[in-house]
Amino acid sequence: MVNKRRQAQWPEELITNMGYSGRRAHIPQLVDVPRTNLPDGWQRKNPANLPEVSELELVRHIVRLSQMNHGVDVGEYPLGSCTMKYNPKVNERIARFDNYAAMHPDAPEMAMQGNLEIIYRLQEALKIITGFDGVSVQPAAGAQGEYVGMLITKAFHELNGEGHRNKVLVPDSAHGTNPASAAMAGYKVVELPSDANGFVDLEILKAALDENVAAFMITNPNTLGIFEPQILEICELVHGFGALNYLDGANFNGIVGMVRPSDMGFDIMHLNMHKTFSGPHGGGGPGCGPVGVVDKLVKFLPKPMIAHDEKRDYYYLDNDRPHSIGRVHGYFGNFGIILRTLAYIYRNGGPGLRAVCQSAVLNANYLMEKVSQIKGFSVPFAKDMPRKHEFIASPTKLLKDTGVTAGDIAKAMLDYGVHSPTIYFPLIVKEAMMIEPTEAETRDSLDKIYEVIKEIAEKAYENGDLVHQMPLLTSKGRLDEFALAKDPVLSHKFTDKQSD
Ligand SMILES: *Cc1c(COP(=O)(O)O)cnc(C)c1O
Repeated sequence: MVNKRRQAQWPEELITNMGYSGRRAHIPQLVDVPRTNLPDGWQRKNPANLPEVSELELVRHIVRLSQMNHGVDVGEYPLGSCTMKYNPKVNERIARFDNYAAMHPDAPEMAMQGNLEIIYRLQEALKIITGFDGVSVQPAAGAQGEYVGMLITKAFHELNGEGHRNKVLVPDSAHGTNPASAAMAGYKVVELPSDANGFVDLEILKAALDENVAAFMITNPNTLGIFEPQILEICELVHGFGALNYLDGANFNGIVGMVRPSDMGFDIMHLNMHKTFSGPHGGGGPGCGPVGVVDKLVKFLPKPMIAHDEKRDYYYLDNDRPHSIGRVHGYFGNFGIILRTLAYIYRNGGPGLRAVCQSAVLNANYLMEKVSQIKGFSVPFAKDMPRKHEFIASPTKLLKDTGVTAGDIAKAMLDYGVHSPTIYFPLIVKEAMMIEPTEAETRDSLDKIYEVIKEIAEKAYENGDLVHQMPLLTSKGRLDEFALAKDPVLSHKFTDKQSD
């Protein structure tokens, strides 16, 4: 059966009582810069209460923390919609090259030609991959890309004298960031119920469209992992009312290299470099969420754009953009991620990216077939349609038979060294478990994910109480979610042993 992995368990004592006054990891050399005092208001009244530790203590602490965590370098990570693919180590080496890592962002344009060329090349590569006419790599995440897309939508309609358009249509299967971005940009959000297969219902869309709609935001492949079969009709309908089509490109791994969003009729989209293009997710940031647009919207993109003067072979910051929505990030966006993702794109090339997509889709469908046969599980919606990069399993029968929920299964999986799928999203599926294995997993790994879920389901039928208590082998056991949300401990107080 499946090998269980026992994680390092460390006594709390060891962590809270670390350090001793005067202990040091590193004693910096004295410098000959004259000493000055900070202005009055800037000085601390009391010294910060920080643990003072030796280098060895510090290393052990950090490594211990890393062992308490699950990561894609440790085990399978089928977190649906997040595309937790392997982050190739060669990208990390490239990102550490001094020419890139040590460049000061305030350096003169002339001195950072290489860095600007990297950004320019990513803009150009993404134009080819998506089919759009302009791309900005400034936004720091998908959600910020959405917001930028909404600001562009607003600027476009206002310039056309159609500032009265005040509504954005969003299907009920959308990621929560979609309605949030539209609302932040000042739009009224209209939620559209999906049809029985989880698709956009054309009749409902038609009924919702009018002269006040600014844009339609949609995720394709959708959050069920299925390509919207009527995407061309949908985009045409929306255009018929003078509104723009926005594509949430978080699921691009399911179509990258196979089809271009511009050909489907989209006007704006964001991509998630930390999903499709192997940027590390890195604890919430820094990320990169480029925005691509059709010709008529290029002038609204954030500034500066990185431009290239072919005659002089010179890269420059194009700030001469009077219709731009403005700057949305300091300097040029998160350069480290821009560099890593360009390296990923160049290493794969066009055919390579297509192969990435094909493997991701094959892996998802292989695993779906197996998981759908587990007792207590089903794969709801669009029964006979293949999925793209992910699928949703639903253990509603298991819940009815045993009282074990999707949340219980998710937690129990950690005992087997496999991260949970995304659960309870999308909201249109009961007990949703959104599983995305990515192209990076081998068949052995796919079989392991299946075996783990199957074993937990079998345990549920034998002894539901046991599953309610899992995980039992992780460094932290089951946490009290309610207490965590109500009374979170957000800082750590170290005990100072000086007085001992
Ligand atoms: C991840 C995701 C987003 C948000 O992207 P971030 O980069 O996390 O801000 C939006 N929509 C969908 C469908 C997603 O999966």
